[in-house]
Amino acid sequence: MHVWTHDRWRFPLPESHNFPIEKYGLLRERMVAAGHEVHEAESVPWQWLEAVHDPELVRRIRTGNLSVREARGLGLPWSPELVERSRRSVAGTIAASRFALGVGLGMNLGGGTHHAGRSFARGYCVFNDVAIALSRLRADAAVKRALIVDCDVHQGDGTADLLGPDPDTFTLSLHGARNYPFQRIPSDLDVDIASGSGDDRYLQALHEALDFALPRADAEFAFYLAGADPWEGDRLGKLALTKTGLRARDELVLDRLRGDGIPVCVVLAGGYAEDVRDTVDINAATAAAVARRLC
Ligand SMILES: [Zn+2]
Repeated sequence: MHVWTHDRWRFPLPESHNFPIEKYGLLRERMVAAGHEVHEAESVPWQWLEAVHDPELVRRIRTGNLSVREARGLGLPWSPELVERSRRSVAGTIAASRFALGVGLGMNLGGGTHHAGRSFARGYCVFNDVAIALSRLRADAAVKRALIVDCDVHQGDGTADLLGPDPDTFTLSLHGARNYPFQRIPSDLDVDIASGSGDDRYLQALHEALDFALPRADAEFAFYLAGADPWEGDRLGKLALTKTGLRARDELVLDRLRGDGIPVCVVLAGGYAEDVRDTVDINAATAAAVARRLC
């Protein structure tokens, strides 16, 4: 399988910060060991970012002029390296999307930065890779109608801000009811899952949500945010899925979408296990589920 990464573009972080920067390199190693081909995308042009985000926000990010409040909301210290990495992450989702159009499935070992909206960057999310990739597929006249299946434990408020009003996109977010963000921007379908919910409740809710979303979306393309943070050991997530449950989740989403013939681009989104190797296990299992469906 071909996958994309931006793991070599690191940025300075204070020690003991929650952002799992180590997971990206570890995941690359796992992919190489499994025989996958790992690609590095180019940096995305500024105009492609400005086509989706407020150009003033893009300018503040580019020049390091976020307000104190914006910087606090982002939760990552600004640096030129952070900006470059974020542009590479977006480019990986664009490349994986274009690849998925050809063979049915593509994966970026990053992205899923769903808290970035039109004029805000927050919750560790600088640019909204999925909204930007969709805008490129549309610019290529490859796709019109799209479905976003967001299974990160946090609600996809930035994606809802950007794509909720778009009549040709259906945004579905399944998330912990008591997780960030606490003030939400509504998706086309938001499913709140009670704290402590395990595999069975989650998978049942996901089944029902897909039953609702698929016919309404009538999608030609889908993005799947396979967040690792609904896992029971996650430090930020309040759900209690097992690794087996997360694997069943991935298979359910991929099989429902591919069963309808919809090409899917898979992105990682969050994951904050105490031991980063647990997050990497979950992400690697998602990649394995994608790879099995490409054979
Ligand atoms: Zn998350």
